[in-house]
Amino acid sequence: MKYIDQIDLKGKRVLIRVDFNVPLNKDGLVTDDTRVRASLPTINYALTNGAKVIVASHLGRPKGKIVAEFSLKPVVQVLSGLLKKDVVFVDDCVSEKATQAVSNMKAGDLVLLENLRFYPGEDKNDAEFAKQLAALCDVYIDDAFAVSHRAAASNTAITQFVGVCAAGFLLKNEIEYFNKAMGNPTRPLLAIIGGAKVSDKIGLLENLIDKVDKLIVGGGMAYTFLKAAGFNIGKSLCETDMLDLARKIMEKARQKNVQLLLPVDNVIATNPAADAEIKICDIKDIPEDWMGLDIGPATITLFSDAIKNAKTIVWNGPLGMFELAPFSKGTFSLVHAVANSGALTIVGGGDTDTAVHQTGESAKISFISTGGGAFLELLEGKTLPGVAALDSGGKI
Ligand code: AMP
Repeated sequence: MKYIDQIDLKGKRVLIRVDFNVPLNKDGLVTDDTRVRASLPTINYALTNGAKVIVASHLGRPKGKIVAEFSLKPVVQVLSGLLKKDVVFVDDCVSEKATQAVSNMKAGDLVLLENLRFYPGEDKNDAEFAKQLAALCDVYIDDAFAVSHRAAASNTAITQFVGVCAAGFLLKNEIEYFNKAMGNPTRPLLAIIGGAKVSDKIGLLENLIDKVDKLIVGGGMAYTFLKAAGFNIGKSLCETDMLDLARKIMEKARQKNVQLLLPVDNVIATNPAADAEIKICDIKDIPEDWMGLDIGPATITLFSDAIKNAKTIVWNGPLGMFELAPFSKGTFSLVHAVANSGALTIVGGGDTDTAVHQTGESAKISFISTGGGAFLELLEGKTLPGVAALDSGGKI
């Protein structure tokens, strides 16, 4: 795969596929500009290297129709403020309007196109729509890691119609950090997997057990494993149809000499509420009417010791219902442990990302992935269509 810094951009029309899928409030204002900021290194690089920069993105799910509330127009002010330069907005992403705007560009200009998903061809990975996008540019740069797990016209089909295709810095970082952690890791390699359901993470658990030295399973999903191991888990989350799978994974861990760590104690309550009465108890002592909602102090120590000994750590999913203060200590304690481990640390997924930011430790994590679904699919060992297309594209 080529990267943006290996390509001559001077005077070229460079279309950059970014992820500007930002949250908007009811007045149509951008409430969090993190995704726009994440694309700045690539956009700035293209601008300073004399490109005519055409920026394209999706926003929300307009399902192939023009829906005013999903317009990218509110992003113009944000992008222009961050870049300190004019941004020309085109209220279409293909057609005569877009062609005309691009033909008026000079080196160092920037045009933001309207939402790609206003056309049904985008989500269908339609070749005709991709051709129209491709006609706007000489060079295609993909920097939208968060959508790489879905084949769309603007990240997959387009690569067949542009002569030069490459990854931007954000995509480059995602791939390079992931490969460092999972491809050829400095061992011991530890994976921490939490969250609500085993069923959401079957592929990931099955793939990781072949790769890691240690696996921590926490959060709601740990109770299915604990039940499978013979514990009485009271009212804790349990997926009875996943018990066999949990047993299979525990057995595989034994065969492969992978240390699988489960909670040994937990914070319990009779209902998941911020004002609920809570108790700390051993995993074997959960009363019938109570449920486990966070890991307990002995588990924090057990998991923190594993974290201290690891050289590479990959983490997805909270260790408890961390949105509620009484059940947040486990997740927050592990954020501190991971941040101060000295290991190469990669964190991904919306909740895990939120927890890291809430503790103020984000600067001490080696890399925080920008893609929830795409990050999970990488952990599952899948090839991402958007990434594969960059590898094979750009050959016309
Ligand atoms: P996921 O999207 O699968 O990563 O799950 C994240 C959700 O799991 C968060 O909203 C947490 O509140 C929830 N969660 C974590 N631990 C537990 C638990 N012990 N019981 C119930 N929900 C939990």
